[in-house]
Order: sequence, then structure tokens, then C-alpha cells
Amino acid sequence: MSKRITHWVGGKPWTGPAHRQGEVFDPALGTVTAHVDLASVEEVDAAVAGAAAAFTTWRSSTLAKRTQILFDFRTILRRRRDELAAAITAEHGKVLDDAAGEIARGLEVVEYACGLSAQVKGGFSESVSTTVDVTAIRQPVGVCAVITPFNFPAMVPLWFTPIAIACGNSVVLKPSEKVPSAARLLAECWAEAGLPDGVFTVVNGDAVAVNRLLEHPEVAAVSFVGSTPVARHVYETGTRNGKRVQALGGAKNHMVVLPDADLDGAADAAVSAGFGSAGERCMAVSVLVAVDSVGDALVSRITERMAALRYGDGRRGCDMGPLVTRAHRDRVASYLDAGVEAGAKLVVDGRQGRPDGEDDGFWLGPSLFDEVPTESSIYRDEIFGPVLSIVRVPTFDDALDLVNASPYGNGAALFTEHGGLARRFQNEVQAGMVGINVPIPVPAAAYSFGGWKASLFGDTHAYGDEGVRFYTRGKVVTSRWPQRSAPRAGVDLSFPGHG
Ligand code: NAD
Repeated sequence: MSKRITHWVGGKPWTGPAHRQGEVFDPALGTVTAHVDLASVEEVDAAVAGAAAAFTTWRSSTLAKRTQILFDFRTILRRRRDELAAAITAEHGKVLDDAAGEIARGLEVVEYACGLSAQVKGGFSESVSTTVDVTAIRQPVGVCAVITPFNFPAMVPLWFTPIAIACGNSVVLKPSEKVPSAARLLAECWAEAGLPDGVFTVVNGDAVAVNRLLEHPEVAAVSFVGSTPVARHVYETGTRNGKRVQALGGAKNHMVVLPDADLDGAADAAVSAGFGSAGERCMAVSVLVAVDSVGDALVSRITERMAALRYGDGRRGCDMGPLVTRAHRDRVASYLDAGVEAGAKLVVDGRQGRPDGEDDGFWLGPSLFDEVPTESSIYRDEIFGPVLSIVRVPTFDDALDLVNASPYGNGAALFTEHGGLARRFQNEVQAGMVGINVPIPVPAAAYSFGGWKASLFGDTHAYGDEGVRFYTRGKVVTSRWPQRSAPRAGVDLSFPGHG
């Protein structure tokens, strides 16, 4: 019998029966390694009820206690990171280094949350009117649902949960049903750190669980990360039900290379940002925009580097692993035919290599297209796999117009040594995260992560000060205390019971 992965409710594994289950694969082996429970409406309700009960006391816990638990959580997570990385590689397929890297980025948000008492200080104005003072405070919002995608099983939950919890909320995490083990490990770390039962809950499931969370009257806030159609659905349904929602969607990130750029550096960046994690990153570079004469030199440098890439089982020291499921692998591979039919030049065909792994793994090697027509599906769709497309344009302005015409606006990068054009790019490009000679410009933890256009529904980005704002709501207290120089004679100012 395969392993069962169940929910985490009330500080322990759920003991109820599983009415529906999904299969969990090891993508490098192509075999089912576990079955994950898919929550019913009633199971979601039980989880939310536990989170709501826990919120009533957690919201009043002291900042000192919250900070202590966060520091302990950080220590435990660091201690267990190899175990967590192994679990990620076994279900997602990314190589162990990438899995360790996502935990490191998640830890940065935990560290930011450790200092949160400085962020929730509030404000005070003395004497706005005679004897009248104003105090601004920020309070937690309640039960926060966090719904995450398959591609960062630890990092994306860690973008949200430490900040929500540090702000005094309780969290119900609904991880991707394709990669459920990381959430379970995070739950164990929180419990070991002394977080009270119910403050962190995991509900495994699919659209049934998500839709119940979006309608549940006791869920106050929803943080979602996933594909654009689901992000739009989550935003519209959640806000219709009166919740605050931040829903981060898909992407099609462009990297523009000008002729004056360091071309070796740009080729290194394109290969690591295009094929790292098999292109299953929302900040992956999927379109390289070669300006003016730079195309041929870039293609030769990139193909040289691609020939040296090793892809295979993420536990064997390869550079790139398999795709997450067989269906996704087949969908990505279908774009290779679609690109050729649309007239693009297939310079490197990822179907032809030989992976270092078992035959049944979900393999597809890195592929490169040149002279990609912008009306083709390989240019327009988010492929979410190891397929890099080169589009050639005559000028910097053409490149900028191309990037800005994209319906997505997650990341955008420019490679150049020209300060003036770099400045224009960062000013005029319509994307939430911009890299200048940096291919994957993920903001550091004290800033906030989020795209524009179809890459984000809502107006609040993840983590950093925008995360703190999302997980708290403002309250302003206006108070008048008439001044008296001395107690009036005959008034008893002693406290009851203290003489
Ligand atoms: P997905 O949209 O299929 O799933 C995301 C979550 O939504 C999962 O928890 C899933 O169970 C749930 N879900 C799926 N279909 C649903 C439906 N019809 N109704 C309700 N809930 C549903 O995304 P994925 O395939 O897991 O992840 C890849 C996508 O996530 C890519 O598009 C990628 O760009 C995006 N992503 C974006 C960011 C970002 O920061 N913008 C970060 C990581 C991933």
C-alpha cells in the first residue's frame, strides 16, 4: 500500500477517513509514491473552524512570544532543510540544489518576519485637538487561506505564512496536490517551534477545497499563487465573498539583450534563467529579445552552453530535472511541433537528448527556438517548461514595445552597459519586477514580490511591507482625556481592592 498524505488539523495529522485521493508521483521515476487526501467541503469546514478558534487566542499573544516562535521555527527549518529539499525533489523533480535554493529564499522571509515587531508599531499623534490624541494600530485580520502552486512547494508557502502568523493571524494552507509533502514538513516544524495548535493548518485538496475556502464566511483573506485563469477565478470569487485577495498569476518573462551587453554573461544568464528548474518558474526567462545584430552571437553562445547541460534525476547532481507530470511533459513537448509549424527555427530539440535517469521519468531536455514569430503560440502562451524562444528586433524601442504588449507583467530584464537605456527601461517597462543585468529579479525579503497585468489580481504584492499590510488592518483611536492639574478633593483614585 502506498503512503497516505493527509491534512494537518489541530496541530496533528487528520485521522478521519479519506473519501477522495490523488496520486503523487516521483517525476524522475514516473511512479506513484503516495496518495494525497483531497478534502471535502466538510473537511475544509473542520479545518477552518479549528483555525478560527485558534485565532481568538493567538491574536492576543505577545509580540515577544510570536518572535520567539519564529526564531525557533527558523532554527528547526534550517536543521531540517536537507530532509525538506529531498521531499521537494522527490515530488517536483527539481534538482537538489534548486530545492535547497528555494528553502534558502523562504528562510529569508522567515528572518524578515522575526523582526516584525518593528513593522507593526503603529503611529501616534499627540494633541490633534485640545486634549485629544490619535493612535493608529494595525490588527490581524483572522483566518488567512494560502493556496499555492506545484513549482515552489516550500518557498511560496513561506512567502506568506510567517508574516501572516507573525501579524497574529491563523493560516490554512492548501498546497498543490501534486507536491503535498513539503507543507506537511512545514507543519511539523511549526509544531516543534511551539506554535499553538490550529494557528497553522494544512488542507490538501483540489478545486473543491479551494472553492470552499473562497466562500467560507470565516476566511478573511486569501493569498493565491498559480496560473492566470485560476488566479482570476480566485480573485473574483474571493472578493465577491467579501475577502481581501491577492492572487498572483502566470508569466511570460522577456530578457532583452542589447549589442553592447556582456554577451557571455547574457548567455550564461539566459541558460540558467531559461532552463533552471526545467523552466517551471514563474520568473523563468522564456523569451530572449535579441536587439539589432546581437542574435547570431547569442545563439552560438547559448547552444554551446546548452550542450554542456546535464539533465536527469535531481538526486544525481544534474543541472535540470524532469517535468512535474507526464501530462505536463507532453503538453510542453507539443509546443516543439507547434513552433516549427508556426515557422520558428528549432535550433535545439529537447526530445533528442538522453537523460541521466529511469526510462519512465517525465523527461524533456532543453530546447531553443530562434526567429520566433510573435503571433505563434510558443511566443504567446506560458509554456512553463525548458523551452527558450528568441525573437529578433531591430531597435531598443521595438524591444520595449514588445515587452509592454505582453498581457503578462511579472519580470522583465535588460542586459546592457548603457546606463541611459537601462534607466529608460526600468522607468517605462510594464512589469512588477525588473532586472538590469539580472535575469531573475526576485525582490529581497524586505521588498515585495508581485507582477503587473495578468500576473497579479489585486493590488498587494507578496511579503515585505506589502505582506504586512495585507495581513493586518488599520484601526485609528481618537481619545480625549480632560486634563486636571490635581485630583479633586474627595475623589477616591485608589484601584478597587488596593486600599
Ligand atoms: P494552478 O493554477 O494549476 O494551481 C495552483 C493552485 O490552484 C493549486 O493549489 C491547485 O490545486 C489550485 N487549482 C487548480 N485548478 C483550480 C481550479 N480550477 N479552481 C480552484 N483551484 C484550482 O498552477 P500550477 O500548475 O500549480 O502552478 C504553475 C502556475 O503558477 C504557472 O502559471 C506559474 O506562472 C504560476 N506561478 C506564479 C507565480 C507568481 O509569483 N506570479 C509563482 C509561482 C507560480
